[in-house]
Amino acid sequence: MVGSVGGPRVLLRRLREVMARPEAAQKRLDRIVVLIAANMVAEVCSVYLMRDSRELVLFATEGLKPSAVHHTHLRVGEGLVGDIAAHARPLNLSDAQSHPGFAYRPETGEEIYKSLMGVPILRSGRVVGVLVVQNRTKRHYTEEEVEALQTVAMVLAEVVAAGDLVNLQSFDEPDRARQAYFQQAASFAEGIALGHAVLHEPRVRVTRLIAEDADAELERLEQSVYALRVSIDDMLETADLSHAGEHREVLQSYRMFANDRGWLKRMSEAVKTGLTAEAAVERVQNDTRARLQRAADPYLRDRLHDFDDLANRLLRQLTGVKLSSASDNLPTDAILIARNMGPAELLDYDKTKLRGLVLEEGAQNAHVSIVARAFGIATVGRAEGILDKIEPGDAIIVDGDTGAIYVRPSQEVIDSYSEKARFRARKQEQYKAIRNEPAITTDNVPISLFVNAGLQVDLPHLDESGADGIGLFRTELQFMIASRLPTLNDQIELYSAVLDSTSGKTTVFRTLDIGGDKMLPYMDPQLLKEENPALGWRAIRIGLDRPGLLRQQIRALLMASAGRTLEMMFPMVADVSEFQQARALVDKELDRLKRLDKPVPSALRVGTMLEVPSLLWQLETLLPLVDFVSIGSNDLMQFLFAADRGNPRVAGRYDLLSPAMLHMLRQVVMRCDAHNVPLTLCGEMSGKPLEAMALIGVGLRRVSMSPAAIGPVKMMIRSLDAAKLAAFMEGLYALPGRSLRDELMRFADENGVAV
Ligand code: PEP
Ligand code: MG
Repeated sequence: MVGSVGGPRVLLRRLREVMARPEAAQKRLDRIVVLIAANMVAEVCSVYLMRDSRELVLFATEGLKPSAVHHTHLRVGEGLVGDIAAHARPLNLSDAQSHPGFAYRPETGEEIYKSLMGVPILRSGRVVGVLVVQNRTKRHYTEEEVEALQTVAMVLAEVVAAGDLVNLQSFDEPDRARQAYFQQAASFAEGIALGHAVLHEPRVRVTRLIAEDADAELERLEQSVYALRVSIDDMLETADLSHAGEHREVLQSYRMFANDRGWLKRMSEAVKTGLTAEAAVERVQNDTRARLQRAADPYLRDRLHDFDDLANRLLRQLTGVKLSSASDNLPTDAILIARNMGPAELLDYDKTKLRGLVLEEGAQNAHVSIVARAFGIATVGRAEGILDKIEPGDAIIVDGDTGAIYVRPSQEVIDSYSEKARFRARKQEQYKAIRNEPAITTDNVPISLFVNAGLQVDLPHLDESGADGIGLFRTELQFMIASRLPTLNDQIELYSAVLDSTSGKTTVFRTLDIGGDKMLPYMDPQLLKEENPALGWRAIRIGLDRPGLLRQQIRALLMASAGRTLEMMFPMVADVSEFQQARALVDKELDRLKRLDKPVPSALRVGTMLEVPSLLWQLETLLPLVDFVSIGSNDLMQFLFAADRGNPRVAGRYDLLSPAMLHMLRQVVMRCDAHNVPLTLCGEMSGKPLEAMALIGVGLRRVSMSPAAIGPVKMMIRSLDAAKLAAFMEGLYALPGRSLRDELMRFADENGVAV
C-alpha cells in the first residue's frame, strides 16, 4: 500500500496555510488539489462542485486534463462521482472502471487511472460537491485514508462556501430568486398561515476547523458533551415539560442518544485527525445524516432530527453561540422553515408568534408534527429542496390542509388566501358559538359527536370542541412515539389521565392497532417486514398470537378504570371467534383482579371495530355477543375496494360516497338496530360534512372524528332534515354510477344543508 505523506494532520496544517493567503477561491482550489494529491500519493485529485442541485461540474484537478476544468459535467447519480453525490457516501474502488456505475468522459483523460476514492463535500449536511483521488495502479485505499479525505472535504466545503466559487457556480443560472414559487408538499397539521419566512438556523457555522492542539480540543469536546448531558437532565426536570407526557418521552430519548458512547468515540477520533472539537461534531453529524437518510427503517430516519438537535446544542456549547437568537426577533407572523427539527427546538420559539411551519423532511407522526398540531401551527412537510428557494423575510403562505406552499406569492394568491383565512376565522367563530348547542337535526334527531384522540396533548380538545366524548382512543400512539415498550404503569398512567379528563363522558379505548404502517421502533423490523403489510400480521392478530402484550394492556385498562366505566374495542377483527378469544382475555384479567381483591371497573362494555369485510356476513352471530360496534371506514373502504388507503394513486379512485359503500353501511345500520347494538363510525369519513350527512342519511346516529371537524359537522347537522334525506337516499342505493356525491351535493344545496 502507498501511504499518505505526513498523514492528515500535516495536510490540514498545509491547508490552513493555503486558506490564510488572500487569494481567489478558484486559485485556492487549484492549490488544494495539488496539496491533496501529493499528500495522499495520488496521481489525480479533482474537485467537482454542485450546480443547480442537479449537476456536478469539474472545478479543479491535478492529474486530469486541465482543459476539462469547467467543461466536464455529470448529472447527480451519473457515473461514480454522481453516485457519491446522490447517496452522500464515499466510494472506495481499487478497480473503478469495472464498476457498473462508471461513466467515461474522454475529455478528462482518466482512462489510465484504475483506482478511485471519492467522498462527498458536505456543508450543513448538504452535498455541495465531490472530492476524488485516483491512482494508475489498482490501489486499495484504507479506511483511514477515506476518513482523512472526508476531513479534508469538510475544510473544502468552507473554501467553497466562503469563496467566490458560489458565484461561479451559478454563472449561467437565471436569477430566479425573486420569482414566485409554488411547491406541493405533504400536510402535517391543518390550518392556513400567511406570514414571513424565518429560517430556523439550528446549525452553528463552524469557522475554526483546524486544530492547533489536539489534546486541548479533546478536552473541550468532553467538557461540552458533559455540559450537554447536564442541560438535558435539567430540561427533564423543568415543570413546564413535566405535564406533557410526550415531550418528556422525547427528551428521554435525547438523553439516551447524548449518552451514547459510540457518538463520543466517533467525535474524539475526528479530533485526533486534526479537527477542532466543533469541526469534529459537524463531521460526525454529516456522516450520521448520510447514514440515517439511507436507513430503511423509518423510525431511524425520523430520529435523525434528534441527532441534529443534539449536535446543534453541542455546537452552541462549543462556540458560545446563544440559543435561537432568531426567536428573539421573531416577527409576529413567523413561518418557520427548517430542514427538520426536534420538538424541543419548536418549543424554544414563542408560539404566539408562530403561524406556520415548513419542513423539508419530517413525517406526519414525528414528534415535531405532533407538537405542532397540539399548538395549532399549520404545518407542511416533505417539502424537498424548499430551503434553497426561500430567503429570510420572504412572504410565505402555508396551506396545512392541502400541503401547498406559496413562496413570494402574487397579490392574487395573497388576496385569495387572505379571504380563505378570514372565512376560516369567521367560521371558527360560528363553530365556537354553537359549541354548547346540541347536535340535533331540524326534525329533532339527536346525533352523538365524539372525537378521535391518542395522545395526552389531544385531551383538551374534547372540552374545546364540545364533543360528547372520545369515540376512538388510538392506544398505539403511545407505543409509536416511545423509544421503548411502555410499561404497565406507563399505560395505567395514560389511561387514567384520559378518564380523568373525560370525567364520565363516553371514552372508547381501542386496543393496540400495530403492524401495517404503524411500526413500533423497538420491534424487530424483520418480524414486520411483509409483502402486504395492510393485509398482514397486525392489530388483533398480533394481540392474539402474542397475548402477553394484549393481556398487559387489558390489565392496564381495567386497573385505570377502577370504580368507573370501561369501554374498549378490538381493531381488525375478521371473524367472530377472534372477538370471542379477545373477550375471553378480558374476562380472565377481570377475574384475576377480583381474585386479588383489586378494585375493578364499575361497568364494562366490550365492542369491536368493523373494518374487515368478512365480518359483514357474520353480523347475526356477532351482534348478540358485543356491547357496541364501531366502523373503521378507513380500513373497511380499503378492503372493500382493494385500494390501499396510503397510496395516493388509488386512494382517491373509489368514492366513500359510492352506492356500494353507502348500501353496505345501510345494511349494517339495519342489522345493528334490529339487535339494539349501538353503532358508531370513527374513520375519517365522519369528519367531512357531506360524508357525515350521508352517514346520517343511512341511519347512523353516532360519529367520531378529529376535533377540528366537530364544528363543521355540527353546523351541518343543525341544518339537516334527517327523515327527508333518508327518504331521498332510498332511491340512490341501486344507481349504477361510481359515486353519489353529485346527488348528495344537490340535496344539500336544494335543502340549505351547511356542508
Ligand atoms: C379506520 O380504519 O377507519 C380507523 C378508525 O382506524 P385507523 O385509522 O386507526 O386504522
Ligand atoms: Mg383501522
